[in-house]
Amino acid sequence: MSAGSVGFIGLGNMGRLMAANLARSGRKLVVRDTDAERQNAFAIEFDAVAGDTPAAFAEVEAVVTMLPNGKAVREAVLDSGVATALRRDAVVIDSSSSDPLDTLELGRELAEQGLALVDAPVSGGMARALDGTLAIMLGAGDEAAAERALPILDAMSARVFRTGALGTGHAMKALNNFVLAAGFVAAAEALVTGGKFGLDPAVMLDVLNASSGRNVSTETTLVEEVLTRRFTANFTLGLFTKDLGIAAGLAGSLEIDAPLCALVHERLAQAGAELGPQTDYTETVRLWERRSGVEPAP
Ligand code: NAD
Repeated sequence: MSAGSVGFIGLGNMGRLMAANLARSGRKLVVRDTDAERQNAFAIEFDAVAGDTPAAFAEVEAVVTMLPNGKAVREAVLDSGVATALRRDAVVIDSSSSDPLDTLELGRELAEQGLALVDAPVSGGMARALDGTLAIMLGAGDEAAAERALPILDAMSARVFRTGALGTGHAMKALNNFVLAAGFVAAAEALVTGGKFGLDPAVMLDVLNASSGRNVSTETTLVEEVLTRRFTANFTLGLFTKDLGIAAGLAGSLEIDAPLCALVHERLAQAGAELGPQTDYTETVRLWERRSGVEPAP
């Protein structure tokens, strides 16, 4: 394998789009996903190596993980034997939305093996993963590790923010998603309440978006996925609830008085228990309409 190759583990909704941009930037990839069909389809389309064995990662200069959570990252990097196979100057870049406390733990264990870990979670969803405009939050314990990760992150997006030490990217990501969720739940509750009173949701969103109540959900998701009744933001309740649990857990472990975070987490967790973790999070509006006896607009 030539120098400059990169490992990529996790080719789901987000990972396959990010890995595709890396491949298009000229990087040779070694790819792995527990879904063999997904892995092999990507390998064929982008002339990548299917990373079926740890040895396939022996020459890569970095491994990017884009997995459901920090436990999966630990399994894919450490338990799988990939870490043992890597060059000692390789950097592990976790772009998943992992728990920062898991990240600190994994960072310590990889450091014992002479390997550097950085956290580089992303925000922007599939649309911005596709066009390479994700916000990337880079946390790194030392400058050398950050410098090795940066060219690889730059190939996936020009918008890389240095957030500080290892784990700060993951903390920032969880807090971002708390703010996203709070705005989404507030707007959804307003739409359901207004709907029951006789307001048209399309008019409500027009007014909110011209007023001080607007947020990213009123401007995009509620217009594009809920008004249209498409409900395909491509972000599952399971993943969203996981992020809110991380944010609420972080606030709790730091003894911060942040009741809204726990409340928003509970609200989406309840919806997830009812609708299933694989359900798109925008489906919550349909659930809350049903519970409140609100007829959706035709
Ligand atoms: P996804 O479920 O679509 O993809 C995860 C992929 O990882 C799947 O292909 C799965 O087969 C694979 N996988 C799971 N465990 C594995 C393992 N041990 N080894 C190899 N492969 C494994 O999830 P996604 O929507 O792409 O999200 C990935 C991460 O990015 C999550 O942490 C999520 O919270 C975060 N995220 C998602 C979005 C979004 O809009 N979907 C946006 C920003 C961040």
